Amino acid sequence: MRIIIIGAGPGGYETAAEAASRGIETILISEGPLGGTCLNEGCIPTKALCAMDAPDQERKEAVISQLQAGIAQLMRHKLITLVDGRAKLISPRSVEAAGTVYEADAIIIATGSMSASLPIPGAELAIDSSAMLNLTTVPGRLCVIGGGVIGLEFASIYRKFGSSVTVLEFCPGILPRFDTDLAKRLKASLVKRGITIETSARVTSITEGKVHWTKGDKEFDTEADCILMAVGRRPNLASLDLDSLGIAHSPRGIAVDANMQTNVPGVYAVGDITGGMMLAHVASAQGRRALNHICGTPDGIDFSVVPAAVFTVPEAACAGKTEEECEGIEIVTGKANYRANGKAVASGEADGWCKIIAEKASGRIIGAHILGAHASDLIHEAAVLIALGATARQACDIIHAHPTLSEVLYAALAGCAKAIG
Ligand code: NAD
Repeated sequence: MRIIIIGAGPGGYETAAEAASRGIETILISEGPLGGTCLNEGCIPTKALCAMDAPDQERKEAVISQLQAGIAQLMRHKLITLVDGRAKLISPRSVEAAGTVYEADAIIIATGSMSASLPIPGAELAIDSSAMLNLTTVPGRLCVIGGGVIGLEFASIYRKFGSSVTVLEFCPGILPRFDTDLAKRLKASLVKRGITIETSARVTSITEGKVHWTKGDKEFDTEADCILMAVGRRPNLASLDLDSLGIAHSPRGIAVDANMQTNVPGVYAVGDITGGMMLAHVASAQGRRALNHICGTPDGIDFSVVPAAVFTVPEAACAGKTEEECEGIEIVTGKANYRANGKAVASGEADGWCKIIAEKASGRIIGAHILGAHASDLIHEAAVLIALGATARQACDIIHAHPTLSEVLYAALAGCAKAIG
């Protein structure tokens, strides 16, 4: 069997490596660098900056190069052919790139997304997250448009670097898709660290060094040396002529079924190009699902329990349902604070909180929300419990080591079990 994968981000290169390990001949076509947005201008460089006290481009580039070399090594598999160039869909079984037509039994499109902007006067005076990663100096005043994941991560990073930071968010709260309880607490923590956050703020225009916005019927200006536009990302649809093959899509992404197959049999799409949860780990899981369908091997990947993390200071993470998504379900919650945890206090990381949501009737854990140090790692215990259908009481029968931050989760689970009675 032979497959063609278009795009070398996590959805593309991880699927290529997996396919080759299963003995499938794989042609990986990409016009961008190996690792895609995640490695080159997303997750990884951002995390490199998170670990610095001042922007250090040399260190950031070294991290990217090291990881890129690792992927290049993986792609040297004898069953993988790497093609550098823009792919053109010829038929549901063939793609042209770099002057050659490649034939395959199936095609997986994994061409990712790009930063979105606002259709407002002066939008070109703002920079996007990719440009933000390349700054060599720290702006005195940073204005971030959008209080979503990208906006808040850069707000945290540059606040730590010493910038005076203002975040302008259109919705009534930051992180609109997250649990409201978690988002409110994160906002309070960020404000305590000196970040100004304006919600229900409608940005109307940008002029040299100034962002103009309204709240209700009042008008405001925020002066800034650097303006970051972080109002979402949109799928990279323009680089492919999807209409030539009749592949169904909307501006929000390529339409796919549960197996990641498009309306054209044999053509699949995974990752940001499908417009769902724009997360690297979702893209690679979707790639595995597509590959499993191509191979006829069903899997049990649970796309309803996707852990997500925001690398602010403090970190925020969640898995399963938010309290708002539980409307119509009778639930109980268990909450615990980091300040009651020995390890958190001892290590000076006592600003944090955890909430577990369980279904009252069954006792099963259905949601977890953590704010605080190492939330991005701690969330996986909750994800496992949710995915395996554990009850809060069963989870409390699992011994948690002392002194660890995992005991915060344990305390919230215990609160939940008690509330169930
Ligand atoms: P986002 O959708 O998370 O946030 C965009 C924010 O901008 C929203 O809060 C939205 O209400 C706000 N907004 C929209 N229009 C606005 C306006 N006119 N004025 C002010 N605010 C406005 O998008 P993002 O932060 O750009 O991130 C893009 C994607 O990348 C997301 O899907 C995100 O999950 C993903 N991402 C994930 C991580 C991570 O998992 N750690 C990190 C970075 C990006």
